[in-house]
Formats: sequence, structure tokens, C-alpha cells
Amino acid sequence: MFNKILIANRGEIACRIAKTCRRLGIKTVAVYSDADADALHVQACDEAFYIGGSAPKESYLLGEKIIQIAIASGAQAIHPGYGFLSENADFAEACQNAGLVFIGPLAQSIRAMGSKSAAKTLMENAQVPLVPGYHGDEQDPDFLKAKADEIGYPVLLKASAGGGGKGMRIVQDAASFIDALDSCKREAQNSFGDQKVLVEKYLGRPRHIEIQVFADKLGNCVYLFDRDCSVQRRHQKVLEEAPAPKVSPEIKRAMGEAAVNAAKAVAYEGAGTVEFIAEADQEGNAGHFFFMEMNTRLQVEHPVTEMVSGQDLVEWQLRVASGERLPLLQDQIQLNGHAIEARIYAENPENQFLPSTGKLLALEMPEEVQHEVRIDTGVRAGDVISPYYDPMIAKLIVWGQNRETAVSKMRVALEQVRIVGLSTNVAFLGRLLRCEPFCSANLDTGLIGRDEEFLLHKDTQVDIESLAFLLACRLNEEVNVASYVGSEMASPWRLQDGWRMNGVLLREFAFFLEGQPSQAHIVQYCYQTQILSFAGKTVHFSYRNDGTSFYITIDGHKHSAGVIKNTSNPVILHLFRNGRHQIWNYQDPLEHSHVEEGASGKLTAPMPGKVISIQIKVGDKVKVGDPLIVVEAMKMEHTITAPIDGEVGEINYAQGDQVNEGDQLIIFKSTDA
Ligand code: ADP
Ligand code: ADP
Ligand code: MG
Repeated sequence: MFNKILIANRGEIACRIAKTCRRLGIKTVAVYSDADADALHVQACDEAFYIGGSAPKESYLLGEKIIQIAIASGAQAIHPGYGFLSENADFAEACQNAGLVFIGPLAQSIRAMGSKSAAKTLMENAQVPLVPGYHGDEQDPDFLKAKADEIGYPVLLKASAGGGGKGMRIVQDAASFIDALDSCKREAQNSFGDQKVLVEKYLGRPRHIEIQVFADKLGNCVYLFDRDCSVQRRHQKVLEEAPAPKVSPEIKRAMGEAAVNAAKAVAYEGAGTVEFIAEADQEGNAGHFFFMEMNTRLQVEHPVTEMVSGQDLVEWQLRVASGERLPLLQDQIQLNGHAIEARIYAENPENQFLPSTGKLLALEMPEEVQHEVRIDTGVRAGDVISPYYDPMIAKLIVWGQNRETAVSKMRVALEQVRIVGLSTNVAFLGRLLRCEPFCSANLDTGLIGRDEEFLLHKDTQVDIESLAFLLACRLNEEVNVASYVGSEMASPWRLQDGWRMNGVLLREFAFFLEGQPSQAHIVQYCYQTQILSFAGKTVHFSYRNDGTSFYITIDGHKHSAGVIKNTSNPVILHLFRNGRHQIWNYQDPLEHSHVEEGASGKLTAPMPGKVISIQIKVGDKVKVGDPLIVVEAMKMEHTITAPIDGEVGEINYAQGDQVNEGDQLIIFKSTDA
């Protein structure tokens, strides 16, 4: 076994690898970029080396530099994590040439699976079932179209060198084929420097089911069950679970064996995942399945497999890479219970899942419970989610005796997540965990799209309990301010609780939800009698708190919730209750109500990213909705359109520039000016 390794990655996966190393007594070396100087992964490792700028190209993708650091630090091996250099065959080879062990498969296996087209040809020869389609070398548009006609519409175009859903185009009919092919090729060229595409039959109700495989250098190869990753948005996974529900034991065995054949066909070593797509029936039962691709690395969702197999897959990777045999052979691997993973992202589900960046002003997660509740994260409160990397904040993984228990536990765990500072998908995940198709395991990749009405519904429910929590937070605030007396003793004269020598004080508090000052909710509170009134209802009310958790009693009924005050703007209160996150404003009755600035002649960037193209020039007249600028942010292109009719006065950025959320992109001259 190694005694020191370098982790060529960042974020949660670097922290997760370091954890296993620490348990096994292996020293770890971290690398970091400018943006990550104080990152958690740096702290999680025994030593750390600076590599360069924040952009991955200037740091985490500098293979040669990382290899030199590994040698200088005395590391014997490099763990690439996922993403970055993990599926880079040249890097794997360079490690070997430098006398370092690459913790992953051989370069030749990565190459064999790197091209989706070549991989399919290989799989065809290894008797692994393929989605009907064309994956050959002939790329003439008319030829490809003839193939699509033959396969029958709808078809799916994929970039052969693709990943992360990039380049994929669904083609509904023959008439739209050529346009879709052009745009698929363009994106493939831009993202992967390779225009090659393949055509597949687009399945009606596809389920994404994948098999975890593992092989050692001695010729043993096993599979560690299956995972379902059908709950996706933009072809990216949101929820993953193991084992995959509603798949017969026969199909599971056939998939497992097909996956092992796939791995053997490329002389695989280490951890890998063979992804299949299966057709689902009305109830979601998996039928025919087909090979989709093989990911030659540890996968983001590996923890669910760890939970149900009781194994540490990073430990397996380390053992196998150092030449040991697999810790368990096929018939020794046992399945126990059910696990679900939810990916918590800094993104805005209500606004097309645009990534969100900023500082994590508060980050509270449920408590970890061994074998039951696990949190893999690479950030802590106070850290920044930057535009440079994947916007994942954490992975929340729960285990239950069966699927139903795991689903309930995940709901409870999600209700305990409190994040302030940027938009997240937490409430959206909570709704997913409650939607009927997910609960009944009627899964397919169209689940989110079909149920958007319910899933993306912004919750604006207002009730007396919500207001009571906000009131509790305000009252608590006033008590705290009053009792903060430096060296002086707390004095009753400093309390601002409205106590009066004679008489009763009734105070009014106004709260409004998510920027709706016109609809303030007025709460009246009487200090002496602890009576609260709202919307014609009068109740007895008391509270206590413990940090950000508040416990209220309303007419004898106790409730709990989290209320977090925004540190940079204390009139903003974040209410976390029953899995919902509402952002409230407190209106101080002593201040005049704050009126929003009128529609301004400025256009700001809705998210951080890179300017891909500018469709207008200074002096152009534009109408509402006209496309102005295309910004690429985390795996996706977004077109920013004109918010008003007007004339373009100034353009502050050029093609290729990096912009931050809130940066002023364009200044308009109003047309009537
Ligand atoms: P999987 O197929 O395992 O679910 P995804 O494709 O969803 O994986 O996520 C892997 C992607 O995450 C990589 O392709 C890369 O874009 C991104 N990534 C790479 N390294 C990191 C990291 N350290 N932290 C977060 N995201 C990363
Ligand atoms: P990537 O390299 O981007 O992960 P994949 O080939 O693994 O690309 O496909 C990503 C996702 O696209 C799958 O998980 C599935 O949801 C969807 N998909 C892929 N192929 C098909 C198909 N033939 N029919 C329907 N959906 C598909
Ligand atoms: Mg894939």
C-alpha cells in the first residue's frame, strides 16, 4: 500500500478521498488554485501546493505541473477524483512515465472508452446490447440523415467525444435533422475539439441505470450492484439511488454481467461505471436495456453503492492501484437496504436552473449518523461558490432498511438543510421527494419535465405560524441587542421589550414575503399578555431559541423552524420550515417604506460566466425580448434578452470576457430620451 498520495482535484471529492487516506494511514498532498487558497480540501490534506490561477486550465488541468509536485513531495500515486484529469489518457500515461501510479485504469482503457462511438463498436463485439443507431466513421450529413430515417424518429444526436450532456440534440422529424446536426457539430467542436457525432434511437421513457464495476490487476472483475440515476435535469443527475427499484433480478444479473464483459473487453482496472439506458413501462418497470457509455473513474454518486454494500470504494481503489487483489469476490458482496443521494446545488430551479454564486452566509446541514446519514461536501459557512467550478455545495446521502424508509429519511434530512447567501435547489429536492412518481418509483428521465408545475412551484403560503417565527426572531434580536452591555451588567433599563410602568404595550410588526412591500403582513403583539394577532386571529404565543432553531408555542401547540438573519442585511429573514425556504423582509415601522428603483436603463448579468457572443452593437435599437448577449455558465449557454425597448448606449464587455453575477453588461439609452 502507498504511504503518500497526491489528490489532483478539489471540492467534496478531494475531501472524501482524503478521509479514507487518513483512516488508512496514508499521507495526502493537496493542490490548489487562487480561488481555493483557503478551501476545505486544502485543510483536509496533510500538505498542499499552489498550482495557479482559478480557471481549471491554469491549475487543476496542468497535468505536468501536478506530476512535478507529486514527485517533489514524495507521493507515490495520484488520485484524479472525477472530472478534470480523471479521464485523460495522456495524463494517466504521463504519470506512469514519471514513475507514479495513476489511481484509475490504464491509459489504453480510458482511450477505448473515451469515444462513445469507438466504445459502442467494442461493446457490440463483446455482445453488450446497444441502442439502435449509427456510430460509424461516415459523417456525411446526407448519409447520417438516411441513417436517422432508417432508425425512425425521434432520434438523438450525440457528440462522440461528449460528456456532461453537451452537444446532445433530440431530433423529432426528418425536416429538422440537418439544423440539429449543424448545431450538435458546432457545440461538439467548441467543447471537445471534435465534430464527430453518432445517431441513436431516442427512447420514449428511458431510465438511466448504471452498474458499478471493479477490477484488479490480477484479472478479477466484479460488479457492486446497480444505481438508478433517472431523475435528471438537462441530462444531468439530481437524485441517485441504489439499488435501482423496479428492475427484475434477471435483468439486474444480465446488466451486471454485461457490465463486467464491457470492463473485461478493455482490460479494465480499478473503479468504473457502465451506464445503461432501459425502457420503462407504464409503472416504470425496466424492460430492454442498452449500453450507453462507460465512465472510467469514480462516479459522483458512488456513496449510494458504499451505503448498500458496506464497502469503501476509495479504499478499494487504493488497494487495487497498489497491486492488491479485490477485497471481495462476486459472491461475497452483499446488498443491505436502500440508499439515496441528493445533489445540493447552488442554482435557481425557478429560473431555468441557472447556477448561482456567492458567499455561503449560513450553511447548516443535518447531523451525520454512521451508516445512515452522510454528508460529502467541500465547503463550509463563509466559503464562496465561485463561477470557476461545478456549483455543487454538498451531497446528502441517506440509508434506510428499504426504499420507503430511505425516502422518508431524505425528506427529514433535507428539512434540516439551511443555506443562506445564494439560491439552492434544496426546496426543489424536497418537492421531488414528495412527488408521486418518485415516491412510487415510477422513474424515467422525463420525470422532472412532466411535473414542473408542482416541482417548480414557488411557495408563497403565509400562515400565523410563519409570522410567529419571524416575530420570535425579531423579539430575540431586541433582547440580544439590549443585553449586550460590554463590561456593564445587564440592566433592566436597557431592555427594549416595551415594558411600561403602567399600561399595556401593543406593538405592530410588518413583514413581507420576497420583495412584495405592497402586501405587508401585519402582526400585533402584546408584551404583557403574550398575545399575538394576525388576520383576525388572536392566539397565545411564546418562544425560545437555540442558535438559529426557534421553538414556538401557539395556544399550546409547539412548532419548530429555523430563522436566519442575513448578516449583510439584517432586515432580511430566512425562514426554513417544513422543507420550505422563504425569504422575508422586516419593515421597521420607524422607517419609511423602501421603494424599488424604477426600471433602469441597465442590464446586469443574471449569473457568472463567460461571454460567448454579442449580438448587438452600440447604437442598435432593440425591442423587449431581442437576444443581446450569450453567456456560458457551467455546462450551459444562456441567451440574455432585452428587458426594455431602447437603444444600446454602452456595451461593457467583449467576447471571451468573464462576468460576475450582477455585473453591468449593457447600458441603454431610452428611446424617448
Ligand atoms: P457523474 O457522471 O459521475 O454523475 P457528472 O458528469 O455529473 O458525473 O459530474 C462530473 C463533472 O463534475 C465533471 O465532468 C466536471 O465537469 C465536474 N467536476 C470536476 N471536478 C469537480 C470537482 N472537484 N468538484 C465538483 N465538480 C467537479
Ligand atoms: P453524457 O456523456 O453527457 O453523460 P450519456 O450518453 O451518458 O451522455 O447520456 C446522458 C443522458 O442522456 C442519459 O442519462 C439519458 O438521460 C439521456 N439519454 C442518452 N441516450 C438516450 C437515448 N438514446 N434516448 C433517450 N435518452 C437518452
Ligand atoms: Mg453519462
